[in-house]
Amino acid sequence: GVLVSGLGKSYGDHQVLRDVNLAMDEGEVVSIIGPSGAGKSTFLRCLNYLETPTEGMITIGGARVVAGEKRPDKASLDHLRRVTGMVFQSFNLFPHLTVMENITLPQRKLLGVSKAQAEVVAERLLERVGLPEKAKQYPARLSGGQQQRIAIARALALNPKVMLFDEPTSALDPEIGLEVLAVMRDLADEGMTMLVVTHEMHFARDVSDRIMVMGNGGVLEIGPSEQVMSQPQNERTRQFLKAVL
Ligand code: ATP
Ligand code: MG
Repeated sequence: GVLVSGLGKSYGDHQVLRDVNLAMDEGEVVSIIGPSGAGKSTFLRCLNYLETPTEGMITIGGARVVAGEKRPDKASLDHLRRVTGMVFQSFNLFPHLTVMENITLPQRKLLGVSKAQAEVVAERLLERVGLPEKAKQYPARLSGGQQQRIAIARALALNPKVMLFDEPTSALDPEIGLEVLAVMRDLADEGMTMLVVTHEMHFARDVSDRIMVMGNGGVLEIGPSEQVMSQPQNERTRQFLKAVL
């Protein structure tokens, strides 16, 4: 699971995250919603140390990192990055590598597996995201939705314990976004622990177990998806939902 306590992040005097707490069970799916600038991306990026949090503690899949003046030891940091897989709004595939190479290279570099082993994993994952015929293509030849599904396969190839998604469909046309959301729904059904920043309110309500609403760097409220959507407790949540629904 995931345990975050007292997480904070400042850029100089500018505090962009304050006292964020979150405990997730294994297999749980939590959607993060909230207005622009709320700190949603910063929060996700702190979880795998793409950003360095300034306060608090993170435990994910057995990796435990404490923020503060002292940099965490390299082993814990490597482990934290190993157990988290991240998918971004802009797919970030390597443009000069084929789909197969995109999925096999990180496995070979980070897990040290053989080319043949990595290819077996890649083939299985391409099947799983519905793109078995694209192995030899370059990313530029794929639609945005296909590129995003490859990005998901690439992250899964490293065998993460938790998948972090930052608005994975917002760069896509709504119809194309649906094929990505379908892959994410399957992943959720298969028991993957997922933390998903999204503007897709259907996904948030129907797929995630809980919704966490962020505003102004903090957690406005968190609760069962149905409850947060239909009976939000916080006035700012009500205003936000009114604006987006
Ligand atoms: P959006 O919905 O637009 O993606 P968000 O909720 O993901 O918004 P963040 O990107 O996490 O918001 O930004 C939160 C705050 O942190 C914003 O006020 C932003 O300006 C600030 N911020 C983010 N990155 C930096 C940085 N590198 N230096 C200074 N401030 C930053
Ligand atoms: Mg963001």
